[in-house]
Amino acid sequence: MAEHGSIFGAMLQEFDVAARILNLDPGIWRILTHPKRQIVVSCPVQMDNGEIEVFTGYRVQYNVTLGPAKGGIRYHPDVSLDEVTALAAWMTWKCAIAHIPFGGGKGGVVCDPTRMSRRELEALTRRYVAEIIDAIGPEKDVPAPDVNTDAQVMAWVMDTYSMHVGHTSTAVVTGKPVEMGGSLGRREATGRGVMIVTREAARHLGLAFEGATVAIQGFGNVGSVSADLLARAGTRVVAITDWKGGVYNAKGLDITAMLDYARQHKTIDGFPGGDSISNEDLFAMDVDVLIPAALENQVTADNAGSIRAKILIEAANGPTTPDAHKILHERGVLVVPDILANSGGVTVSYFEWVQDRYGYFWEEREVNERLERKMCEAFDDVVQTSMKYKVDLRTAAYIVAISRVGTVTKMRGMYA
Ligand code: NAD
Repeated sequence: MAEHGSIFGAMLQEFDVAARILNLDPGIWRILTHPKRQIVVSCPVQMDNGEIEVFTGYRVQYNVTLGPAKGGIRYHPDVSLDEVTALAAWMTWKCAIAHIPFGGGKGGVVCDPTRMSRRELEALTRRYVAEIIDAIGPEKDVPAPDVNTDAQVMAWVMDTYSMHVGHTSTAVVTGKPVEMGGSLGRREATGRGVMIVTREAARHLGLAFEGATVAIQGFGNVGSVSADLLARAGTRVVAITDWKGGVYNAKGLDITAMLDYARQHKTIDGFPGGDSISNEDLFAMDVDVLIPAALENQVTADNAGSIRAKILIEAANGPTTPDAHKILHERGVLVVPDILANSGGVTVSYFEWVQDRYGYFWEEREVNERLERKMCEAFDDVVQTSMKYKVDLRTAAYIVAISRVGTVTKMRGMYA
């Protein structure tokens, strides 16, 4: 059972609300609230100074009822088994809502990659993969990038696994470079999905999408692609912040110029096309759509009352605390939950895995069209469920996920 204050405990709270509404069978309830498998490994690495360090790594396969476990690998000093388990559970629900044949998994290594050389990172990655090698594979568990891991790290994962099994296995991991079995459109997929659900949410509220005003926290992979695609789709992106500062322009920011500026300066702070703003200003802005796309716990009970946006799209994972969510719901703000809003990334990861197994690669147009269809279907399923049960979209998303995983768990029955 999760301890008080744990991230996994927070996931269980959200789960319980939906399970109660569904009147979920107590046995299925018990199964779905326990991780299938938690692996803890020690990874010795010879550092550049000749000393040996031992890093702790985790891989959690939360549920594999619908297919192989799917989820990223995170490198961060704060990684813990509790956090990895919660993230693996959220991946289970995210894949079920996206209606893709994957279960949920997540991995992490306790390390500070900002203080490690490229050679040390490669050595750590290869040793971590070697330690969990029996548990992963295209049919078992398919990792992907997460915080502080990228396409290069995935290339090392793929190579290490391939060397061990004796042949090239591209489908063991997603988020790889396109040259070695990655998918076109994968890099933009999460932001593209965010743009699509924003459009669908506006349509749901009867709000004009074209000309709608948008404020975004974060200008990294997700925030910058979302901003670019939303601007191209005709919305007015008026405010953006990042770790260092923020910019506001009532007429709409020039996102192409901002992308160039961010490439050069590694921040948008000081961008000449608008006035300087803080995160606090951004959250209180009178806009139609607010998109936190940076970190967890950004919308709290302290600032939820000042939010004036009609729609909040959770592009980041866990940006809204449960208390804040309650306040927003009472004030009539439509919150599109993370397990729906940012599922574009895992959906195109699924397309990458399909293409790798098929050995035939799609054009970017085809990837984007299929993503569009998948995101619209997922959004519609969650909205229909919210109307049927008269609940908010987060609870509805859990109801969709729990129903799908629970039904198949029952059909498959118990192997004992
Ligand atoms: P990233 O590291 O590329 O970008 C993070 C951005 O947040 C940067 O612009 C950074 O400056 C900004 N930021 C950091 N601290 C901030 C602060 N205090 N105030 C304002 N901005 C701040 O990360 P990303 O890949 O864009 O991921 C962002 C979020 O989306 C994370 O929660 C991640 O888990 C989630 N997510 C990402 C993907 C994906 O495909 N990359 C998929 C699903 C969910």
